[in-house]
Amino acid sequence: MINLKMYIAGEWVEAENGEKREIVNPATGEVIALAAEGTVGDAKRAIQVAREAFDSGIWSDVPAVERARLLFRVADMIEERAEELIALETQDNGKPLRESGFDIADAAACFRYYAGLVTKPDGQTYPVADAVQAMVVREPVGVCGLIVPWNYPMLMGVWKIAPALAAGNTIVFKPSEVTPVTAIKLFEILEEAGLPKGVANMVMGTGPVVGHELAASDLVDKVSFTGGTVTGRSIMTAAAGNLKKISLELGGKSPNIVFADADFETAVDYALFGIFANQGQVCSAGSRLLLEDSIHDRFVEKLVERAQKIRVGAGDDPRTEMGPLVSQAHMEKVLRYIEYGKEEGAKLVCGGRRITENGLEKGYFVEPTIFIDTTPEMRIVQEEIFGPVLAVQRFQDEADAIRLANDTVYGLAGGVFTQDGAKAMRVIRKLRAGITWINCYHPTYNEAPWGGYKQSGIGRGLGTFGFDEFTEVKQININMQVQPSGWFEN
Ligand code: NAD
Repeated sequence: MINLKMYIAGEWVEAENGEKREIVNPATGEVIALAAEGTVGDAKRAIQVAREAFDSGIWSDVPAVERARLLFRVADMIEERAEELIALETQDNGKPLRESGFDIADAAACFRYYAGLVTKPDGQTYPVADAVQAMVVREPVGVCGLIVPWNYPMLMGVWKIAPALAAGNTIVFKPSEVTPVTAIKLFEILEEAGLPKGVANMVMGTGPVVGHELAASDLVDKVSFTGGTVTGRSIMTAAAGNLKKISLELGGKSPNIVFADADFETAVDYALFGIFANQGQVCSAGSRLLLEDSIHDRFVEKLVERAQKIRVGAGDDPRTEMGPLVSQAHMEKVLRYIEYGKEEGAKLVCGGRRITENGLEKGYFVEPTIFIDTTPEMRIVQEEIFGPVLAVQRFQDEADAIRLANDTVYGLAGGVFTQDGAKAMRVIRKLRAGITWINCYHPTYNEAPWGGYKQSGIGRGLGTFGFDEFTEVKQININMQVQPSGWFEN
């Protein structure tokens, strides 16, 4: 049994009250680790340590080129330990090995991206009216509380930790209480890479306890959160106390729009990938498929035929294409949504059940599920299910597609499939969403900004935008004619 401790002030520690949480492999229901369950006291201590580390300048005063060198080392170490990290991610989260492989490779690439970025030219100068040289520089925000969900346990952490450290901040990181295993390994790597004690701290535990303290504490300057929209709202409220900076990457109900003139096979392929990758537990999942009326029936037929062939199984079986959902509680939520879909009158044309045979009965496996004949007000069309459940909507023309696509409170992502380039651009530009694709769905790059419109969030992760979120902008004015201003006569 793995025993997982927290990392505070460069020491591996248990929770102050000795509490533990069982960490479960979702493919088998077996307990694979016991994790220290942090308290408010643990969170306060980690925050205090990060505060003192920041105020001492132990990290922010390190030249950017040296910070970069350390982060490059972290990237190398992630790659050297990739095999172990991939196996642990699959055991903890359930995702198939090939998906864990992509995540771990991407995590190393993310550290490299920010290590490279931090030494590149930055700042601006401004021509102003006086003999004054006006310019801006970027400085770290200070102590950053980083809170992430369970769907990409390692990657969601790295998307925040890499830019935060690159910019010279100190951090307190909280993994999801459901999937803390690879976070431990990442902090072991940060320690071995030589990060000064107190710069990066990690506290496990629940959101309302540890997460809330990070969001509410007056000693924290910034909170960067990825998770559900309801949680995001409570974080924003808690953060108001000291008006700390916030970045929120929240949920979605993203439209994937297929016009009749699209490349049929490509569109079918990405429609499947858009919703069933990572078991549908992707914030940007194409969970609403909008089909032009004339191709609707043929498209659905092909989609169902292929969805039924997706090989569902344990993530560590190399043949597996779709794994279990992350936990029993989450599986129950997804199954409840399937019931809502049926009750509200949508037509179930694929899947719809928990899988209880072929050795999968102890895990949290749900079949790839597709509903057609939906109407816009249905819960399965409006609400984020975060599982392998697709709601198909039918549209008549371009204007109808745009209207339906934007008809939720979310605005995270969206895709358009058509061979008419002008139409693709017209529709994409009308989507109220922060991440969009034309003739593909899901590819994500460390170099490009990630985040949502509307209730899908505030701010952007990744790319230079993601770096900027972890900095403050300082204006500096240098008087080049040093003499009194003469404003007062005496
Ligand atoms: P969640 O909101 O329940 O939890 C996310 C994190 O917040 C966890 O670490 C949790 O412990 C913590 N938390 C919970 N309540 C809190 C509180 N009151 N104060 C502070 N922290 C709190 O989300 P989840 O179920 O872990 O993840 C699924 C959600 O994450 C989905 O809605 C999904 O769309 C979203 N997500 C968004 C993105 C994105 O980039 N936009 C990426 C991945 C996941």
